[in-house]
Amino acid sequence: MSDIHSASAEPATSRLDLNETEIGSVFVSNYPPYSFWNEDNLQKSLGALNTAAAPDNTLGLYMHIPFCRKRCKFCYFRVYTDKNSTQIQEYVDALAREVEIYSELPAVKGRPLKFIYFGGGTPSYLSVKHLESLVARVKAVLPWDSAEEVTFECEPGTLSQSKLAAIRGMGVTRLSLGIENFDDFILNENGRAHLSQEIYRVQSWIHELDFEQLNVDLIAGMVGETWNTWKENVQKTIDYDPDSVTIYQMELPFNTVYTQMLSDDKQKIHVADWQTKREWHQYAMETLQNAGYKMSSAYTMVKADKQCEFVYRDSVWHGTDMIGAGVAAFGHMNQAHLQNTASWGDYLEPLSQGRLPLKRAFMLSEREQLVREMILQLKLGRIETGYFREKYGQEITNLFEAALQKLAAEGMLAFNDDEIELTPQGLLRVDGLLPEFYDAKYTNARYT
Ligand code: SF4
Repeated sequence: MSDIHSASAEPATSRLDLNETEIGSVFVSNYPPYSFWNEDNLQKSLGALNTAAAPDNTLGLYMHIPFCRKRCKFCYFRVYTDKNSTQIQEYVDALAREVEIYSELPAVKGRPLKFIYFGGGTPSYLSVKHLESLVARVKAVLPWDSAEEVTFECEPGTLSQSKLAAIRGMGVTRLSLGIENFDDFILNENGRAHLSQEIYRVQSWIHELDFEQLNVDLIAGMVGETWNTWKENVQKTIDYDPDSVTIYQMELPFNTVYTQMLSDDKQKIHVADWQTKREWHQYAMETLQNAGYKMSSAYTMVKADKQCEFVYRDSVWHGTDMIGAGVAAFGHMNQAHLQNTASWGDYLEPLSQGRLPLKRAFMLSEREQLVREMILQLKLGRIETGYFREKYGQEITNLFEAALQKLAAEGMLAFNDDEIELTPQGLLRVDGLLPEFYDAKYTNARYT
């Protein structure tokens, strides 16, 4: 699962008082909300793609690999579990073609790449042959080797020793392993494709290949989780010895197996309430801290004694340009948000004719760019006002004084002229706080 690139469901309203995990989601990955992006803006976005970029902005590449062995019951991503090798090769060829088209556009041509991100879905579902054909074509048109970081998302059960070696050979620096949970009953109950045996099978291979950074993802509050299983999970995570641990709180977005089950009321399932999930999240953060990790964002702990950057996340949260390639992928270029079509046929067809498969777009005003960066950077737990003063000529503590005062009175953050810092309480519910900074027209609206 993709950590910060995902779009989740409506509504993006404050959930400060909500306790039951209801259907819907609060995870904020972008701004303005996706429901405001539309086809009418596509023409303007083409203008953004045909304009040379600001010289001081960075560029990254995100490639979406929408295949999984099995659909997790909580998953709302665009994924396919039924494509054969020929269809996957067809997709890989289209993806490479899309990157080739981007490479010729004035907004991209000649620029170095700061980061590359393989997200999904499950990038590690691809065979070595598929992967090598994709990478060879991308390398031929973009300066792959200039990237400071290449992240690759994996599902443990899709990895072999030779595939991992090929992934390392491609220049992947940051391997992100979707463990989610170490308990076989919970993994099975939630529809994950892997079991703990596969998690441990890949451990020595990963260490032998010496990736610069290993991240593991966990979800607090999967169906079947208890305090005992969660404590065991956290200990097993520490024993696994990753450089970085990312913890999400389980949600029930629309369009998942679980939400369908709940809506139909055919089968009762129990998802822990928000208070419990926050307590589990907090326990994990504190236990990891005691084991030698430090906070890198509201979701991520990294080894304190190691340099553990996350270039993709920090670049996106600071307004980088990014090619978003693949079905349903999101990109950003010259103040334009762009999203590709979300259907298989509508993605492949325009690319076969040399056209980008764009579906909807949004042109951001300067104010919207500032709000976007501010809310995303708040997920780091602390932001410096000087950054916004220098980049936008604005005092964010004045612009958002009412929202900041309100959240400070609720104990969620503290601020002064130089910085805004979330409290531990605020960190655990940061996504629910962010709509406080939205322009009025974007509040109480659908998020996707
Ligand atoms: S691994 Fe599961 S959660 Fe991740 S994209 Fe595939 S089906 Fe969705």
